[in-house]
Amino acid sequence: MTTPSLVRHPAPFLTESLFGYILRLSEENGYSTPWSLLLLAQIRQHEARSTGIQVAKLAQVSNRPQAELESTSYRWPGDRPRSCRLLGHLLTPWELAVTRPRLCPECVAEKGFIEAHFDLALMTGCPVHRKSLLCRCPGCMKPLRWFRPGLLECQCGTNLRNVSLPAISGAEADLLDLIRRKILGLTAGRDYASGLPSSYLEVMSLQPLLSLVGMLGRRRMVVDNDSDRRNSQRVVFAAASVLADWPNNFFRLLRGITEGMSADSDSSTGVARGRLGGVYRSLLNLRRIVPTAQGDFLRIAFLDFIRNDLKPDFIDQKLMRRLRTGQSERFISKAAFARLHGINPRTAARFVEDQRVPSRTFRWGKSERKLIDSAAAWPSPKVPGKIFRLRQAAAMIGISSALLKCLKASRDFEVNHVLRTKPGFHELDIEAFIQKLKRLVPPMNAADLSSPKYVRFAIIARGWYGSVAIKANIVRAVLSGELPVVGSVDGTVAGLLVSYEGFQRLAHDERARENRDTRTIGEAACQLECNTRSVRRLVELEWLRATPTPKACRVTEESIAEFKKRYVSLLSIARTTNSASWALQNICKRCNLPMLVARQSGNKSSQAFIRAEHRQALLCLRSGRSQVAIS
Ligand SMILES: [Zn+2]
Ligand SMILES: [Zn+2]
Repeated sequence: MTTPSLVRHPAPFLTESLFGYILRLSEENGYSTPWSLLLLAQIRQHEARSTGIQVAKLAQVSNRPQAELESTSYRWPGDRPRSCRLLGHLLTPWELAVTRPRLCPECVAEKGFIEAHFDLALMTGCPVHRKSLLCRCPGCMKPLRWFRPGLLECQCGTNLRNVSLPAISGAEADLLDLIRRKILGLTAGRDYASGLPSSYLEVMSLQPLLSLVGMLGRRRMVVDNDSDRRNSQRVVFAAASVLADWPNNFFRLLRGITEGMSADSDSSTGVARGRLGGVYRSLLNLRRIVPTAQGDFLRIAFLDFIRNDLKPDFIDQKLMRRLRTGQSERFISKAAFARLHGINPRTAARFVEDQRVPSRTFRWGKSERKLIDSAAAWPSPKVPGKIFRLRQAAAMIGISSALLKCLKASRDFEVNHVLRTKPGFHELDIEAFIQKLKRLVPPMNAADLSSPKYVRFAIIARGWYGSVAIKANIVRAVLSGELPVVGSVDGTVAGLLVSYEGFQRLAHDERARENRDTRTIGEAACQLECNTRSVRRLVELEWLRATPTPKACRVTEESIAEFKKRYVSLLSIARTTNSASWALQNICKRCNLPMLVARQSGNKSSQAFIRAEHRQALLCLRSGRSQVAIS
């Protein structure tokens, strides 16, 4: 059985309301109400009154391709009962007003159909004719119904064509024009005389824009003590008045909020809990639906108000961050950019100018603020590439970890692709360093690479000839050409060859320079006339200073001399007096002569020192004791 189709089946217009199309279809086929048509299409009553109406059944009776009607459908495709759509824009059912039809008679008369934007709950006026919408029949005074004979004809027979309707405000008309263009997919409007932040509103999606309108409108109404906050007409009027002359009226709203309440919350409670807490939270909640970049102009205006009106020295960092939690902001302030990269704000500013970093300028009133694209590459951590750990990076270059660390600290290893303060080595920096070394190879290799006259870079970097500091100095000499590379055994960094003689001389000089003012432990022990263990102990006790050479501890000449001036070892006295140091220790103990004992744990043969000025006293005591023994 085939469904009987209608006699006339006009195509829907691209921007037509679905219920408007059903009414037009019914009217053109001569029905007195769309009911007959819906019965024909076997669309049930409850379905015909909601956004859930399925266009498939309608397509059959109207003899139109289903896809054609699908674009006007209110149903969100798939299983999302809490979502609906209007010409493809995602919405929630309560954002539509399909059960309470309204229209602009002039628009409908001119177009010959009902445009889809009239289905929107917040579409409270006609932006084209700048008038309120008709929602009640002037004849029978009943609300308009979809079940009527024609687009411009009431059930009671009243012609709706020539009804005079009150005008709406300029700001309201501008805001509604912006919304209408968004819904119908029309190009952006002209410059709005009311001064809406149209460039920001135009890039917002429909639903976030509607949320913003609702939020601003209701905030304004609270300040104005307007309790009719469910009246969408009042909400749109209030929201338009806030958005007009942006951001001055928004500031006025914020001022109204701060003035209208008692000054119980002082500045110490912060913005989040203060008088502006409500707006603050609204802006935060808005974040869930307004993509952060699209909501920036609001947050900037909000912060501006706080700085201009509440606290001139207000630092926005925390608030900015909190307003933008969750995801990283694309456009950030210059100061935030500097913080992001750990650089000086002035350096950041210069970088932004020099590099023409993408930025956006926000303007309101007389002031202007520049926001920088945070993705801009200042030795940006966002340079793609792998970050290696010290050990891995050192292995890739063919040097030891300690040497790489040393070369990085001295900036011979250049860090250009990660933050210097950040750990790790960017693969591009590693590669650059390797290339820097490889470029030292002359175009023509020296005659005999296997000659013992040459030494490989691997030996310079990893050999056992000196401290890391010495190796770093020799690598620097190689890089500067002081120790020239004569060729390469295998094309790798490790295979670079330098003169063996030149290397030896440099290494010798470096060692000598490093050792000039220090003595080995053994040398120190000789000078102080004690054993090496005592020297180590004195170093541990910090009576002597040693250089932090990991492998061979060296004692500074200066500290040895200083120590010798103040102390003398009992061993040295024992040697000159032909006695034993343990005997001298006993005398000191008995006579309460203070001793510095370099006591080693688990070792009974600790060596002692006495102050140099007590030396004579000890000698006297000792000889006195001998005399006693003799006499
Ligand atoms: Zn109109
Ligand atoms: Zn009527």
